[in-house]
Amino acid sequence: MAEISRRTVLRAGGAAAVITTVTTTAGTGTAEAADIGVSVDAFPLTAVSLLSGPFQANAARTHSYLLFLDSERLLHTFRLNYGLPSSAAPCGGWESPTTELRGHSMGHVLTALAQAYANTGRAEFKSKGDYLVAELAKCQARASSAGYLSAFPESFIDRVEARQQVWAPYYTLHKILAGLLDMHTLAGNAQALTVLTAFAGWVKRRNERLTQTQRQNMLDTEFGGMNEVLANLYQLTGNPDHLTAARYFDHAEIFDPLAANQDRLNGYHANTQIPKAIGAIREYHATGETRYRDIATNFWNIVTRDHTYAIGGNSNGEYFKAPGRIASELSDNTAECCNSYNMLKLTRQLFRTNPQASYADFYEKALYNHILGAQNPSSSHGFHSYYIPLRAGGIKTYSNDYDNFTCCHGTGMESNTKYVDSIYFFTGNTLYVNLFIASELRWPGRGITIRQETSYPESATTRLTFTGSGQIDLRLRIPSWTSGAQIRLNGTAQNVPVTPGTFATISRTWASGDVLDLDLPMALNREVTPDDATVQAVRYGPIVLSGAYGTTNLSSLPTLDPASIRTTGTPLRFTASASTGSVNLLPFYAMHGQRYTVYWRIGTTPPLPAFVAHYQFNETSGTTVADATGNGKTATISGAVSRVAGRQGNALSLDGGHVQLPSGILAGATAYTVAAWVRLDTVASWARVFDFGAGTGSYMFFTPQSGSGTARFAITSSGSGGEQQISGPAALPAGTWTHIAVTHSGNVAILYIGKTEAARNTNMTIRPADLGSTTQNWVGRSQYSGDPLLDGAVDEFRVYSRALTASEITALP
Ligand SMILES: [Zn+2]
Repeated sequence: MAEISRRTVLRAGGAAAVITTVTTTAGTGTAEAADIGVSVDAFPLTAVSLLSGPFQANAARTHSYLLFLDSERLLHTFRLNYGLPSSAAPCGGWESPTTELRGHSMGHVLTALAQAYANTGRAEFKSKGDYLVAELAKCQARASSAGYLSAFPESFIDRVEARQQVWAPYYTLHKILAGLLDMHTLAGNAQALTVLTAFAGWVKRRNERLTQTQRQNMLDTEFGGMNEVLANLYQLTGNPDHLTAARYFDHAEIFDPLAANQDRLNGYHANTQIPKAIGAIREYHATGETRYRDIATNFWNIVTRDHTYAIGGNSNGEYFKAPGRIASELSDNTAECCNSYNMLKLTRQLFRTNPQASYADFYEKALYNHILGAQNPSSSHGFHSYYIPLRAGGIKTYSNDYDNFTCCHGTGMESNTKYVDSIYFFTGNTLYVNLFIASELRWPGRGITIRQETSYPESATTRLTFTGSGQIDLRLRIPSWTSGAQIRLNGTAQNVPVTPGTFATISRTWASGDVLDLDLPMALNREVTPDDATVQAVRYGPIVLSGAYGTTNLSSLPTLDPASIRTTGTPLRFTASASTGSVNLLPFYAMHGQRYTVYWRIGTTPPLPAFVAHYQFNETSGTTVADATGNGKTATISGAVSRVAGRQGNALSLDGGHVQLPSGILAGATAYTVAAWVRLDTVASWARVFDFGAGTGSYMFFTPQSGSGTARFAITSSGSGGEQQISGPAALPAGTWTHIAVTHSGNVAILYIGKTEAARNTNMTIRPADLGSTTQNWVGRSQYSGDPLLDGAVDEFRVYSRALTASEITALP
């Protein structure tokens, strides 16, 4: 973003976005349209209360701040913008009267007040929100352009449309729109809907004058969740104008690759994109158009798999990097808090769409390791972090009362007033328990109360006590990180499947006094970074443990001996031996006021042998393929194969099957050779002789016939659009043995067909070391599930970590 330098200057912050979810079944009594394609739903904030615990403590600090904030100071720049008198002291930071983002905090405050009121019932939150809405309505009534409501003049919109320098006007307006919607749906404020509807009308009128090209160009500037809030308003009102306006903010440059499941995120401002995906899933719920669902789902998969740190956050310096770059992107500016706020919003909507445990597992990861620990517990007003430094020696910093007002200060107010919104989900009589947070659920309309008492994660157990009676199919999340989970009903162990990464189900008619205990044994485990296997984070169960370094700065990652980790006897507190000496480990969510490290150097990766692996395929049966180099890189056969006479002994004929090579077969390599004999039975475009990768974002492959009709080698770390290629003169023939090889050293890669050079690329800069952790290293199969499997035989498959010379290629038997 052009404005990044301004953000960096203004600091404590970056950019970002907000939101609030309209849960249509949330029982506000309005005539809301049912969301399309939703399988389960969350309970309204009114139905779930926090009990004593770290989340309740965080919420209380934010509640205190919301009541402390001076409404007149928040209104100051709005009133000035409409020629109304104001003698209030101006706010500072990103709310100063000269900051182009001024007014965004008003939206965050409205949302936070609405959520706090819905969740606690305390009238003081609603009355403060009602006052702000009424005063904003007075401003809006004076707008020269009907409906416009902002703390900055409409000329900022002229500038963003004309592609002139301006920060992010629609980003700011989105916050206000969302705040008004929440004051209506969560706090029952009718005037907020009137103001919001007029404002949304202005949005449509302002944008329908533009051509599609003008609008798409404008969307290069961060615009928050405009598509989301307008889709939510459409679901609330049924007015198709709001859906039309929402679609004006469908950003094709981002949506088109995502619809094709391509990772083009490298170099894009992270928190500009995440709200677009939230908007996409809400547009799916509003329209049923599955392309929107696929955009959101693909985005979530790409970000959580290839762009996410151990704490659940993403981005370095606010930007997405190449897939799999984690260890190489540790700095003071990692993991902007807004990003995780928005990823959790997206995750929640995707769980509603498809209630799989992996969504809830990620929710837990980012909630405990990022969001919970982003608020300063020693501030009675809940001051909030912006970035979470992940370099060794980093330290958390926080906002303040009036001189910060960054995006993350704003989303922090929201996060800390809605912790109950993703603990429980339901459909019909089915109840999902996704999170183990001390809380009480009062199931609307059923007369059933479920009280969850736990000190999780300090204890690895939780207890549900039922009041009232009725049939419930209870689905308990069994996290992917546990082993040996146990469920006891009224003290009796239940013999039901407790497979990690799924939900365990207890179906019965529950009665008052029923008690269910769930034990989720935790153990030490580690998350390995994809780009450096020796850089790892240590966890206990789901909780990232960080090293406490007091005032000691660090210039590099300490080396940790994982065998030295010992419990102190206090829950989640450990000691360990590191290269820096003895070190205390404590949960990262509890790490405040001192320097720390989240990542460690653990172990060393032995350098690859020069001759990495050699598969002769001389076995006569079984699914194991020996590695003739003696390096133990044993491969595995999946699916239908047969053994045929090969170039040397047997060959493997792939008849619907493929071969899986070990993970990281060329991990860290900067030079390599892959060589094999191939005899095709049929020539099919995009089949693979080999394809080593981590999905469709990072891979290297050889196909006998590309879409342009010739053999091709390609390598990429940023999806198909980022491929560097060498194409041969023709497709490989069928029915005859052909030797193929690719070598790469420096920037020179050479494709050999029939042991003679077929083509070269002298600008090949992507190497296996850039591909991150490749786990899908296949012979005969593509990273792209739509591509055909190889139909043919393979023999003498060789992998080297150096480039063989032409004469060496010629000499290969
Ligand atoms: Zn932020």
